[in-house]
Amino acid sequence: APGPAAKGKPRLLLMGQRRSGKSSISSVVFHKMPPNETLFLESTARIQKDSMHSFMDFQVWDFPGQVDFLDPSFDLDAIFGEIGALIWVIDAQDDYLEAINRLNSTILNLQPSYPNVNVEVFIHKVDGLSDDYKLDIQRDIMQRIQDELSDHGVENAPINFHLTSIYNHSIFEAFSKVIQKLIPHLPTLEALLNDLCRACRFEKAYLFDVLSKIYIATDSSPVDMPSYEICSDYIDVIVDVSEIYGWERPKEYIEFLEGQPWSKKLEDQVACRDAESAIVLTDMKRPIMLREVNKYLALVAVMCEGSYEKMPSVTMNVESTVKGLLEVFEITKQRK
Ligand code: GDP
Repeated sequence: APGPAAKGKPRLLLMGQRRSGKSSISSVVFHKMPPNETLFLESTARIQKDSMHSFMDFQVWDFPGQVDFLDPSFDLDAIFGEIGALIWVIDAQDDYLEAINRLNSTILNLQPSYPNVNVEVFIHKVDGLSDDYKLDIQRDIMQRIQDELSDHGVENAPINFHLTSIYNHSIFEAFSKVIQKLIPHLPTLEALLNDLCRACRFEKAYLFDVLSKIYIATDSSPVDMPSYEICSDYIDVIVDVSEIYGWERPKEYIEFLEGQPWSKKLEDQVACRDAESAIVLTDMKRPIMLREVNKYLALVAVMCEGSYEKMPSVTMNVESTVKGLLEVFEITKQRK
């Protein structure tokens, strides 16, 4: 049976019927499996606890679609007690009525005891469906859930919908939205990124969880898929290059990076601030920069044309943003 989550860390639960795509999603997002290879995955046969070494250390619990978890022998509190969000995967390419019935009864059963669990519906496998059809399906699914819940007197349950596919970045985008709701002090992180974009005239800045390439915060300008894709691909480039060639970094800086995110005193972190400067590659016209924040997180930004000439001031601003981000995590730690 599932044990309690790591203390104080939000948990994500991934649920849905067999073959809906749960194993594929966790393999692609958290284990870097190429989407094509999911064709050969064994369907989830048992509850899997997938503990990740990423920033939040959230967990994906991959539930078998057919388990009746409302069975009284199931320890509901162990499962939902510390949960951050329940992700329910629906196969949009299949008949989804049964999936919706199960989702509805799950929500109705959770409401009395766990009214604050965010329910995040992934309308999944939408690759190959036309835009109109996708929206029709989404509308239909939303309507069916809403009708059923209001028949039972449940209004305003926290339910969100995402159109996803493992064959493009939509699955990462959806996870980013889910995770952002669980991040303490998100508005402060966003304000720091806004300030950075304003000061340096960056087009867009993301704070990425490097392992999963989920962004945990971004500035308030609209997210456009191309900029997200460029930044997330850029992380791969940097990770690959650094694995091949290594980066020359002072010993204390490496120790800081490899330590637990909250294990170091802030002065130690600040002392390292000159150890790493921004790295710039040019993607067509728009330079991109990446700056490590800690072991798990990296700041990645799409700069503007001509940013090269202003690199000293850009670097200075980036450093103070990183310092600000680390201070926010320091506050989070003290609250715990
Ligand atoms: P599970 O039983 O819920 O864990 O489902 P699996 O992860 O085993 O997925 C079932 C099948 O769906 C596999 O053949 C996957 O390749 C396929 N699949 C998963 N995600 C997607 C997707 O986004 N698009 C498409 N077209 N197929 C997918």
